[in-house]
Amino acid sequence: MDKELKKNLALVTDTLKEANLYYHACHVLGYDQQTIAPKKAREAQGETSAFLGNKGFQLVKSKKFIKAAEYLYENRADLGKYDSVLAKSLHREYQRVKRITPKMQHEFSLIYNKAFVDWLNAKEASDFSIFEKSLGKVREIELKQIALEKVHRNTTYDALLDHYERGMTENILDETFGTCKERLLPLLEKIKKSKKQIRRDFMSRTVPEEAQRRMAKYLLNLICFDFERGAITTTEHPFMDDIAVDDIRVTTHYYEDNFASSMFSVLHEGGHALFGQNTPRVHYKHFIEGEKTLGMHESVSRFYENRIGRSKAFIDLVYDKCKEIFPEVFADASAEEFYEAVNVVNPSLIRIEADEFTYTFHIIIRYELEKMIINEGVKISDLPRLWADKYEEYLGVRPDSDKTGVLQDVHWSGGFGYFPTYALGNMYNAMYINKMKEKYDINKLISGGNFDIISDWMTKHVYKKADRLEPQEWIRDITGRAFTPKDYLDYLEEKFGAIYGLS
Ligand SMILES: [Zn+2]
Repeated sequence: MDKELKKNLALVTDTLKEANLYYHACHVLGYDQQTIAPKKAREAQGETSAFLGNKGFQLVKSKKFIKAAEYLYENRADLGKYDSVLAKSLHREYQRVKRITPKMQHEFSLIYNKAFVDWLNAKEASDFSIFEKSLGKVREIELKQIALEKVHRNTTYDALLDHYERGMTENILDETFGTCKERLLPLLEKIKKSKKQIRRDFMSRTVPEEAQRRMAKYLLNLICFDFERGAITTTEHPFMDDIAVDDIRVTTHYYEDNFASSMFSVLHEGGHALFGQNTPRVHYKHFIEGEKTLGMHESVSRFYENRIGRSKAFIDLVYDKCKEIFPEVFADASAEEFYEAVNVVNPSLIRIEADEFTYTFHIIIRYELEKMIINEGVKISDLPRLWADKYEEYLGVRPDSDKTGVLQDVHWSGGFGYFPTYALGNMYNAMYINKMKEKYDINKLISGGNFDIISDWMTKHVYKKADRLEPQEWIRDITGRAFTPKDYLDYLEEKFGAIYGLS
């Protein structure tokens, strides 16, 4: 590395180090705000957070910094393997925003903010018309930003997908979701007609918060969450926050009449946290720990929530502990009944409450609508009807209100292209689980409580290069194969075919 490159690299990393001090403080404040901060503290906290965030923002927006970062990008071939990833990432971000003037930036953020508030009010009133105008504006500015980015993609929607899952395209998704429909719809019909009775009564028995808290701790310990470098508390909508290298926090929500909700959200967010806790420390040192995509992250959280948490081996393993902590629930319910109850297939209206089998359809519906919104310029006022029609077509249920239909998710108030990452996560993990199976009998590892072995395998194969490779390269690197939904569909067919006695 020559002197000039060294100088520029030092400028970039020193600046990022300083900016990260501000961002670190913002993260801690944000976590506090969403968990234990009293309602009236929010305004002052928001002010402090905006001030600190802006300090960091100014550092990385300075001409000096951008010039140095662009220099790194041009000379990335001479950088080490971590710094070249950083150079590419900074360049990508710069390309995205360089033609956006501060005035436009301000105008966009007002539109997103208003859309969020309008969405909240519209959802509360269950009236889409309150959100309609704002949503139209969001579409307008999303298209404007894509035009300003000047990236070369086949379709506008591809450019949007890039923001969430780099390299993903409509072509790949059309084929992927087409296969899902072909294979899952006939099976869903069979499941609906099946005479199989699944008991659910014990799932809504009252469980005090204190008992659920014990269960959450037990589950996190079991899957090897490191409490010396992490913490858990409660919030309204569970999330994980990777605040710093040794500070990865999760949240959950305890419902007294739905103990399973917290159990599975803990496994889900715990999965996200394990990804953070096992990210190589050197990635933090080189500021690339945030390069992993949403699809990669969801693959891990859903691995722990569904592939482990909703497996027979896992339910058998934790059943005695469940009986000990929730004696009233399991007094007359067996492990087999518990397993079936957490895997019941029930086509329903709300995505976040969907079962593992019908989940993909909730994503397909949103994906098809997003393409219509972005590529076909569909009338925004038609969305509630189009939404309802698609639910009826795929799942046989029709929302009778905007609240349980088109207004249920917050995502569109912030833009388009996010949803497919949820489905991709399921497909990625199905592929790498099959790779893991070449070495281990996973059910045996689960039954034996050998989660350290599972975590080691994930660290070595799944986490290690996630920040350095693009999603398509990453999945090929782990499995030796190109991305395919086949493994996931095979898994669903086998699992739910067995539960519902179909062959
Ligand atoms: Zn998640």
